[in-house]
Amino acid sequence: MNKNDKNDAPKKLNNSNLMLGFFWIIIVLILLNGLLFPFINQHKIIKTDYGTFMQCVNEGKVLQVELKDDYVYFTALKDNDTVFYQTGDMNDPLLVENLTKADSPNESGKIAFDKTIPKQNSPVLNFFLWWILPGVFFYLIWMYAQKKMMGGGGDKGNFLSFGKSDAKIYADSQIDTTFADVAGQDEAKDELMELVDFLHNPKKYTRIGATLPKGALLVGPPGTGKTLIARAVAGEAKVPFFAISGSEFVQMFVGMGAAKVRDLFKQANEKAPCIIFIDEIDAIGKRRDNLYGGNDEREQTLNQLLTEMDGFDGSKGVVILGATNQPDSLDKALLRPGRFDRRIQMELPDLEGRKAIFQVHLKNVQHEDINLDLVGRLTVGSSGADIANFVNEAALRAVRLNKDVVSTSDIEESIETVMAGGQKKGSVISPEERKIISYHEIGHAMVAAMQTHSAPVQKITIIPRTSGALGYTMQVDSGEKYLMSKQEMLNRIATLTGGRSAEEIMCNVETTGASNDIEQATRLARAMITQYGMSDKYDMMQLETVNNRYLGDDTSATCSSGTAAEVDNEVMQIIRDAHEKAKKIISEHKKEMDAAAEYLIKKETITGEEFMEIINMK
Ligand code: ADP
Ligand code: MG
Ligand code: ZN
Repeated sequence: MNKNDKNDAPKKLNNSNLMLGFFWIIIVLILLNGLLFPFINQHKIIKTDYGTFMQCVNEGKVLQVELKDDYVYFTALKDNDTVFYQTGDMNDPLLVENLTKADSPNESGKIAFDKTIPKQNSPVLNFFLWWILPGVFFYLIWMYAQKKMMGGGGDKGNFLSFGKSDAKIYADSQIDTTFADVAGQDEAKDELMELVDFLHNPKKYTRIGATLPKGALLVGPPGTGKTLIARAVAGEAKVPFFAISGSEFVQMFVGMGAAKVRDLFKQANEKAPCIIFIDEIDAIGKRRDNLYGGNDEREQTLNQLLTEMDGFDGSKGVVILGATNQPDSLDKALLRPGRFDRRIQMELPDLEGRKAIFQVHLKNVQHEDINLDLVGRLTVGSSGADIANFVNEAALRAVRLNKDVVSTSDIEESIETVMAGGQKKGSVISPEERKIISYHEIGHAMVAAMQTHSAPVQKITIIPRTSGALGYTMQVDSGEKYLMSKQEMLNRIATLTGGRSAEEIMCNVETTGASNDIEQATRLARAMITQYGMSDKYDMMQLETVNNRYLGDDTSATCSSGTAAEVDNEVMQIIRDAHEKAKKIISEHKKEMDAAAEYLIKKETITGEEFMEIINMK
């Protein structure tokens, strides 16, 4: 879906003229060469001796003679062909007399002869060639190297524009993306609508004395449509769009990035009203600190950006959009009013948002009626980019199966494929292991089913996946959940321990199959105590802080090491209790476990409804 990237004849605004300069120098050199060494003769010339030459003259075969440098060039008839010859000049005093006397097959009957006077270069040209040209050449090279090293300023370039940053900034003048392409994100759209209105009609705002925000910062997890919505703003406002990524400013030489920023704003001012979009702005906007040793280039670039944002006239209609998924790492100066004073939050979509995003992307593929509610519920926690990917994978799957349209099952399968890996059909698993895997998965499902406050089981499968999962139990909430209670978290941990509990009770083994369950259960239990204040002992004390809200759940401890050791004990206690509870549930339902596991071994994949039927029947 690259339709957003289409731009009609992007105009290259700033082009390094360096190559052009060298090109001209080379042309000049070639021309001079042409002056000095004209091509004497393009014919094939046969070398011969003076005797042969005299013989030809005497026999009356020679047409034309030309003396040049120390050679005699002559043409003679040989078997009715004109042949070109060359021979040495003997300074023969009788040559002229001989030539005058001799006959020739010429029309005039006489040999035409001549001596070329060697051309002397004018002293001026010589001087230019040997002194000025090399001088200029080396001066230019030296200048260029100097500018590169010093990262010289951008705008005082000479006729070859050295030192101008080679920022490849394209102003897209026509963008097809509109707000209709961005599903959900209504709050963000509302806020950005105001900017669009401002770009359409700045007078409406300036008349009353209002200054609109110069910049807005789009903040949110990766794939939530930040880049997309920035393009949509430009598409809606129908103004030029300068898009550049923060990392493009960070150059090898100190000062180049700053020059690029200067260039960018200069061009934008000429094109106002327009939008400057700096994607991944954290690449230059990171907090300046001396703690870990500064980065000169980045700091200079940031300083230049701050200066430019202060310097330009907001009423002209230049709006700066930035996007980042690490807002906490940005320099405070960048966020103060007058710069990126508006912060637009792009969150992961909720159920309605996900359904809307599915709809937007399904427009691009042939599909039958899709159960949007189901696929929306299956994709809890997915971003817009994930959903775009699911739809595309489903379309690919439909093609693989030789179908004309995408169906709900294609999307379901593509979601599973992206989340758990593709089905691994070839692997042979022994009956003994299949039995253990079945009991393990049924164990999860059973514990989930026997607790209230637990999401219903959607699907149980023991088809191995390329990700290494040997089977899985899928639970899907019926609606959208924004909060999770302590009881729900404890139930979730119990469900996670259900797999191992079933192994122990039903098969009398403990296998490595539970490793992922253990990881998840531990993370959840730890978060309950350290982040959510769900332990009696520590009450509402924060013991861990999340490093980056939008990028993974990487945390660091904020408590002393003594407390950390006690936290470990608390975590262990939560998991132990949950494990006990799961074991109790399974011991009380051994019969149902057997029936369900047997059915699963036979069918490999069963739905939640089938499972509920089996366990309720008994
Ligand atoms: P970000 O810049 O936030 O990381 P992008 O804007 O690059 O994310 O989004 C990547 C892709 O995901 C988009 O090109 C689009 O196809 C899809 N996408 C993301 N959010 C949405 C949305 N709200 N509506 C429709 N498509 C979306
Ligand atoms: Mg992006
Ligand atoms: Zn498991």
